[in-house]
Amino acid sequence: MTSRTDLIEDLMGRFPHVPREAVIKEDLLRGGLAFDDSALTDNESGDVKPKSYFIFSFDHRTLPELGEAALRRPPEEIVLTGGPYELRRTVVSVRTNPDSPYRVRPDDEGRLMLFLDGRAIAEVGLPPMPDYYRHTLANGKSVMEVAPTIQWGYLIYLTAFRVCQYFGAKEECQYCDINHNWRQHKAAGRPYTGVKPVDEVLEALAIIDKYDTARTSQAYTLTGGSITSKVDGLAEADFYGRYAQAIEERFPGRWIGKVVAQALPRADVQRFHDYGIRIYHPNYEVWDKRLFELYCPGKERYVGREEWHRRILDSAEVFGPRNVIPNFVAGVEMAAPHGFASVDEAIDSTAEGLQYFMSRGITPRFTTWCPEPTTPLGRANPQGAPLEYHIRLLEVYRSIMEANGLSSPPGYGPAGAGRAVFSVSSFMDSLPAEPAAAHS
Ligand code: SF4
Repeated sequence: MTSRTDLIEDLMGRFPHVPREAVIKEDLLRGGLAFDDSALTDNESGDVKPKSYFIFSFDHRTLPELGEAALRRPPEEIVLTGGPYELRRTVVSVRTNPDSPYRVRPDDEGRLMLFLDGRAIAEVGLPPMPDYYRHTLANGKSVMEVAPTIQWGYLIYLTAFRVCQYFGAKEECQYCDINHNWRQHKAAGRPYTGVKPVDEVLEALAIIDKYDTARTSQAYTLTGGSITSKVDGLAEADFYGRYAQAIEERFPGRWIGKVVAQALPRADVQRFHDYGIRIYHPNYEVWDKRLFELYCPGKERYVGREEWHRRILDSAEVFGPRNVIPNFVAGVEMAAPHGFASVDEAIDSTAEGLQYFMSRGITPRFTTWCPEPTTPLGRANPQGAPLEYHIRLLEVYRSIMEANGLSSPPGYGPAGAGRAVFSVSSFMDSLPAEPAAAHS
């Protein structure tokens, strides 16, 4: 049986244009990593920034199955450098999997290392606890709960609505554990606010603004579950838009405002823009028609794939095509039993979607699928998608982007191996480095 080391080295050899950093990062994102107890954090009272569970669980086990890591959280992210593959600085979001062949633990000299199949392959850096996490709101809530930051502090992640109104097997997206994650945090007695009051968000942002003196935080994302009826008496555009309006009134232009929401009708999209949002993510999730219908039954029923795509194109007229960045969940194309059986077919389908949008000046981006165990697709595919799919996707993504004269999308920090901070896929690590000004 080939080891995981053999697998990554084979892919590094066959795809020399994909940075080696990205091969390891994709493998960690799709399959997770284990932590020695000594490498866990002391939650919000230690020196290492803990995993905030900012929207989904992004773990390969439920909280009760994580052992010590359920009590002392793992770090939000790790940064890898050096080792036998001479890795440049690579930021990776933490997805916990106690059974992973990747393990973070100290070596014999006490240095924290990433081990693969028992061999040290990189030095591990941990995110320092940011000053703003050491302060609480007047009501005692933590900044990490109300306004966590990810991507090494670049992005403030505001999940304003912690559940989704697409509910149950007939509506929830088949790879999404947002509703389960809410339930498991509640069951564990953790603070986990269902609807974040606007005042709390503003208070948390004021703390970040005050203590982030290096101005590492440069963008915020407003997001949460889909709203098919109303929350707080508001439909989706006004519910999420009111946060942007309040933030832009209080901190005009301090951060780049982004929203991840459904593909809404043009008038709603215009309202997002009017509220001060600058980047819109109407995620199309998976390109293939049959798979979209099967995997996103709620979206198919309420909106429908063709209308969803039409709305994405319409929104480019409001935001400008560069600022419309729909996400897809890379890897679900290959999930059994309905997904493509071969990497070739999956890449061909995904490439068709990329060309559809990129030829119109819209740059999609992707997160690497984490097969969470409480989702239908995660249960049926605990190993996720083949690593080769993820590596070839990086290659095809870059080539279609370049063929259409596009470059890395705005609002993601710097591109390039050794520079990227985007932590939930390595698309930014595998694009060419560009001047920082291109990303402001
Ligand atoms: S729309 Fe789908 S992916 Fe988005 S939160 Fe709801 S169930 Fe999850």
